[in-house]
Amino acid sequence: MLTSTTTQTTPSTSTSTSYSRYQKTLSQTLARLNISEKEANFFKEPQFIHKKEIAIIRDDGTTALYPAFRVQANNARGPFKGGIRYHPLADEDEVKTLAALMAIKTAVVNIPFGGGKGGIQLDPKSLSKKELEAVSRAYIRAFKDHIGSDIDCPAPDVNTNPAIMAWMRDEYEKETKTFSPSMITGKPMSFGGSLGRDTATARGGFFILEELIERTAMDPDELRVAIQGFGNAGMHMAHFLHNAGFTVVAVSDSHGGIYSPDGIDPVRIEKYKRNTGEVTGEYCEGSVCDLNRMKYDNVERITNEQLLEIECDILIPAALDNVITEENAPRIKAQYILELANGPTTPEADEILNRRGVKLIPDVLANAGGVTVSYFEWTQGRSGEQWTAEKVDAELKRVILDAYKGVRRESYRNKITYREAAFSIGIKRMLDAMRARGWV
Ligand code: NAD
Repeated sequence: MLTSTTTQTTPSTSTSTSYSRYQKTLSQTLARLNISEKEANFFKEPQFIHKKEIAIIRDDGTTALYPAFRVQANNARGPFKGGIRYHPLADEDEVKTLAALMAIKTAVVNIPFGGGKGGIQLDPKSLSKKELEAVSRAYIRAFKDHIGSDIDCPAPDVNTNPAIMAWMRDEYEKETKTFSPSMITGKPMSFGGSLGRDTATARGGFFILEELIERTAMDPDELRVAIQGFGNAGMHMAHFLHNAGFTVVAVSDSHGGIYSPDGIDPVRIEKYKRNTGEVTGEYCEGSVCDLNRMKYDNVERITNEQLLEIECDILIPAALDNVITEENAPRIKAQYILELANGPTTPEADEILNRRGVKLIPDVLANAGGVTVSYFEWTQGRSGEQWTAEKVDAELKRVILDAYKGVRRESYRNKITYREAAFSIGIKRMLDAMRARGWV
C-alpha cells in the first residue's frame, strides 16, 4: 500500500459526472419532500471516502499499483453495505454514486443497512488467478479498519464473485484475528454463503416482473425481452424468463450481442459463453462468424447499442451505468425497462422515457434482490443458522414485493415515476433514522 487518504466529505461542485446525475435526482426528491436545507445537506455527500493505492507483485516480478476505493454513503439505518467492483473505469465518482444508490436501495427494501460501495481500478481479465487473489487480499488489508460485520459489509459486484469474497473473508479474519462470517456476503456455500445468493438479484427482478405483468393481464409468451449483460444478473434473469415462457430475443456481453426474433435459449448461450468467453460463441470466433448457420437459425449479431433499441417489450440493462441516454431514449422500443444494472439511465433519458409512457422499474428497487439475500446471509452468519432455499426464496419474494407495492402506491398517489417514488421512500426512511439518532 503506497498512498492512503480518508476524507470526511463536504459538498462538491463537480459537473456532469455520474455523481452529479445522481445529485439531480436527489435534489428533485429533497425539494419534493420539502426537506430543510440542514437536513438536505446530510444527503449530498457520502459520510466517508477512503482511497488507497494498492500494490501487488505480478507473476513477472514487476510491481503493479491500482487505485482502490471504499465509499461509505450513509449508515443511519445500519452498517454500510455494498459490493466491490473491479473495472478499468471504476473511479471515485462512480463508486460514490453506487454507494449513494445503495443507501437508497437498502431503505427502499427496508433492511437494516446503510449504503457503501468499493472498487479497484483494474482490468481483471489482464490478471492471472494468483494476481487476482493478491489484489483482493491487498484490498482487505488496505481497508480492514473501515469494514466489519457491524461497520461496513462488502459483497460482489461487476467482475467479483464468491471466490473473491472467500479470499477477502480469509484475509480479514487473519488480519483481525477474528471469526467474522458476516463481514462480507456473496461467499461460496462452503464458506458461509447463503443458498440463493447467486441468483438473488435476478430473482428479485423476476418477482417484480411477474407481479407487473399479472396486473396488466399479459401472458409471458406474448412478451419479448432484450437483456444487456450476461453476467450474474443478466444470465440468471435470462434463465428465469426463458423458463417462465418469455421470449428472450437478445442478449449481449462486453464483446457484443446476439438477436433472434424467434427467441434465444439461454442454456446454449451460457454453454458457449463458458467455453469461448462470448455470448456469440456458438456462431462466431472473434470477428469471424458462420453466416450460413446464423441465417439458418435466424440469428443476427448486434452491438450493445443496437440491443438497447431492438424490437422488444421489456428491456433489461444488466451491465454498466449510463447506457440509456437522451440520444438513444427516443428510439427505445420497449414499453417496460427493468434496471438490473445500477444507474443505467441518465436523468435526461428518464424524462424522455417518462414522456413517452415507458414504465421503468428503477435500479434501487429492480436489483435489490441481491442486497436482500446478502442481508439473509449476514443474518445466517451471525446466528449460525442455515436457511433452506425455500425459506430464502419466500422471504425474498415477501421483501421485494412489499417494496414494489410500496413504490407503486407512492407513485400512484403522488403522480410521480417509480424512480421518484423509490427515492422518496428511501430518503424518508433514512431521514427518520437520522432524526431518531439526533443527527439532524
Ligand atoms: P458481472 O461481472 O457478473 O457481469 C457483467 C456483464 O456485463 C458481463 O456479461 C459483461 O460481459 C457485461 N459487460 C461489461 N461491459 C459491458 C459493456 N460495455 N457493454 C455490455 N455489456 C458489458 O456483473 P453483475 O454482477 O451481473 O452486475 C451487472 C450489473 O448489475 C452492474 O451494474 C451491477 O452493479 C448490478 N448489480 C449486480 C448485483 C449482483 O448481485 N451481482 C446486485 C445489484 C446490482
